[in-house]
Amino acid sequence: MTWDVIVVGGGIAGLAAARELEKAGRSVLVLEGSPEVGGKLKRADVAGHLVDVGAEAMLNRRPEGVDLAAEVGLEVEHPVLARSRVWTRGELRPLPRSLMGVPQDTSALAASGILTPAEMERVLAEPGLPPLELADDEDVSVGELVDARFGHAVTDRLVEPLLGGVYAGHARDISARAAVPQLIRMAKEGSLLEAGRASTDTTASTYQAPVFAGIPGGMGLLPERLAAGLTVRTGAMVRGLERGAVGGWRLLVGPASHPEWLEADAVVLATPSHPAARLLADVAPVASRRLDAMEAASVAVVTFAFRAQDVRALDEMDASGFLVPPVDGHRIKASTWSFAKWGWVREAGAADGLAFLRTSLGRHREEEALQRSDEGLVALSRMDLHTAVDLTAEPVATHVQRWGAGLPQYAPGHLDAVAAVRADVAALPGLAVCGATYDGVGIPAVIASAQRAAREVLAPAGV
Ligand SMILES: Cc1cc2nc3c(=O)[nH]c(=O)nc-3n(C[C@H](O)[C@H](O)[C@H](O)COP(=O)(O)OP(=O)(O)OC[C@H]3O[C@@H](n4cnc5c(N)ncnc54)[C@H](O)[C@@H]3O)c2cc1C
Repeated sequence: MTWDVIVVGGGIAGLAAARELEKAGRSVLVLEGSPEVGGKLKRADVAGHLVDVGAEAMLNRRPEGVDLAAEVGLEVEHPVLARSRVWTRGELRPLPRSLMGVPQDTSALAASGILTPAEMERVLAEPGLPPLELADDEDVSVGELVDARFGHAVTDRLVEPLLGGVYAGHARDISARAAVPQLIRMAKEGSLLEAGRASTDTTASTYQAPVFAGIPGGMGLLPERLAAGLTVRTGAMVRGLERGAVGGWRLLVGPASHPEWLEADAVVLATPSHPAARLLADVAPVASRRLDAMEAASVAVVTFAFRAQDVRALDEMDASGFLVPPVDGHRIKASTWSFAKWGWVREAGAADGLAFLRTSLGRHREEEALQRSDEGLVALSRMDLHTAVDLTAEPVATHVQRWGAGLPQYAPGHLDAVAAVRADVAALPGLAVCGATYDGVGIPAVIASAQRAAREVLAPAGV
């Protein structure tokens, strides 16, 4: 049979695109190379409970994620506590209000002790600097921009841990236009500090909605629920893509020993950049080269189940975890206290007297940090938890999830690269791309890119 659309990749992007296309009445097949759908949305059994071992939250202030969950009958839950600390200069310190680390509340920043008095003075001098001069076609890294306005310490101790949490990347290698475009706009108009203070005032009154949402039972439920309403083949690695003899597309699936060709009028590529680059090599060489040049960071998530009584001191700290700036030389880059952050996680563990928390390790171009056994990553995490919060108890269970090339890096010029990929792909009728590579790595942005790809192949020239 010839499908209307074949979607390659069964992560949240591929599944969201497939759902849009099915809603439009098209016959859709999703091909997922691994044994299960979901990609970075995944649950695993830790001490007899299913908890997220990939993404665990989504932005609530964009509609795409929460709307999609509602469509498939999943309720969302907001964090009970979303108050992260920064582990720096030997202590867990409160994280002051900021826009991706750029200070918005200087009194709270001064009180936190994250910066020295001299570094603080440099921050307070920022309004005296002239506005940023940057042509519309120029880009700058977030780190360079913040260094120039506030000095290195703000980048190192505030921006790095926050960007590290989202991209597992380094602030001085990440595009400001792609990651935090508001910073460029504000810096071109004048002082970032003054703009930040003003937005703090309006934030209190305008944004009553919680910033994040999760799904009771785990974000991993979202792909499972989506896939249940779709036609999906798992264990179906797509190895080739070519134009059909009379229009449409042919896809080569399966191992070299049992090759199989499938046909579709249209194809949506919802894989990370390197698999997409390989599949596009012959049909869209410009897009392929651009995708091939994009880098990604590998990370690992270590999940711990502790006896609840062993984390009582953490429970009393009124925090949902902490972020770690690379400048302090520790091994973990964050710890999320899931038992304190999510009501459903606390309840799940409570029945057995357990409390779940996780650590994450790995930053862009620091793959060697992950070249250890699972036991090694658990041991490193425990050493840092010991030093940071004096947690020395033996865990009841641990789980290590590695995400090789798990987070795409948006280098300066990323928006131009994406535009070039899309232009090359758009020249081929019935072909579109989507996923975390393009318009943002967060779940709502990824879903938005999927919905866009569905519209592109449904457009008049498509199906
Ligand atoms: C550890 C971690 C924590 C995160 N936490 C959050 C969070 O809390 N909130 C948030 O908003 N975002 C978070 N993110 C980011 C977010 O989860 C991802 O950006 C998003 O899930 C990516 O979805 P995707 O569908 O684009 O890609 P993926 O999830 O990578 O899915 C792509 C799929 O394509 C398949 N595939 C690849 N090649 C082929 C092929 N040739 N043929 C067939 N199938 C193929 C893969 O097996 C995979 O299943 C996190 C990411 C990581 C790694």
